[in-house]
Amino acid sequence: MDKNYELLCRKAVMHGPLESLFCCVGDPVVGNPTQLMMEATFQSMLFPARYLTCTVSKDNLASAIEGIKALGFTGANVTAPHKVEVIQYLDGLTDSARLSGAVNCIIKDESGKYIGDNTDGKGFHTSIDNITPVEGMNVLVIGAGGAARAIITELALHGASKITIANRTTQKARQIIDSLGPQVKSTLKSIPFDGTLTIGAEYDLIVQATSVGLFDPAGGFEITWEPKTSGVRIAADVVFNPVDTNFLKGARNAGATVVDGLGMLVYQGAIAVQEWTGKDADCEIMRKALEEAFTI
Ligand code: NDP
Repeated sequence: MDKNYELLCRKAVMHGPLESLFCCVGDPVVGNPTQLMMEATFQSMLFPARYLTCTVSKDNLASAIEGIKALGFTGANVTAPHKVEVIQYLDGLTDSARLSGAVNCIIKDESGKYIGDNTDGKGFHTSIDNITPVEGMNVLVIGAGGAARAIITELALHGASKITIANRTTQKARQIIDSLGPQVKSTLKSIPFDGTLTIGAEYDLIVQATSVGLFDPAGGFEITWEPKTSGVRIAADVVFNPVDTNFLKGARNAGATVVDGLGMLVYQGAIAVQEWTGKDADCEIMRKALEEAFTI
């Protein structure tokens, strides 16, 4: 640990204000690199804080959230399988969390209330917005799980004109359309998906939002990319390990600008840090911490 940072943390214990407390709750959480990413950024910001990774079973979720409140934690991350269940124990939700129906980040506000947010979708949006605005885009999203829903919500909130969902279980895509569709201006529709897909030139942004390929470098779908000669074609994967997935390799060969899942992971974390501390995190330091974490 950096000597200056260590001294700052010691001074916080002896003279206050005490270090801010954060945690990540999920089950399982072993292998979740968030703590390492957060500790790296807190240190670089000289922000005295402690971040813990906690295994919390479904049965203990209510008490864990009560504990977070009682102990005065400044914030927390929530991961699978609690992103939906946690909502009932919180004091309020941001629009992103309400519309996506899931919380991955808890923020203690100025009045001491614990508010649920969804920074997954916001982080994804930032990773695309860094290249070009999503307003007016025609988007294809493969997948209809929690990550897909958060992404679709945020793309709709930022003015994507059409969003097509291709999911193995069509019913799940329909559920997103039925619940989110009436609340946003984007046109949402679903197409059948059996693992094989031809991606037409009409799409500006194609998002691989399933868990296929995670920890499986050989994993992926059978995708044919129709040529696209004009306009933007961005392909993004939510899978962050491996970083360069088969989906992204195929997209790159088809001339797309590719965006890996590590970007989304970094930005969702950086947005959480901003909301918790009011300060900007260094995304490069966070990305480096993640890359190092994956080699441990
Ligand atoms: P969910 O379990 O909620 O959803 C899984 C999705 O993958 C569903 O659409 C599911 O389809 C689909 N799927 C799974 N296996 C197959 C298969 N063999 N063939 C076709 N479709 C399949 O998971 P999440 O949405 O929470 O997470 C999805 C991925 O996103 C994970 O890899 C996760 O690590 C990653 N993620 C990345 C983040 C980042 O910051 N980069 C943040 C959050 C998540 P069906 O509905 O038919 O079951």
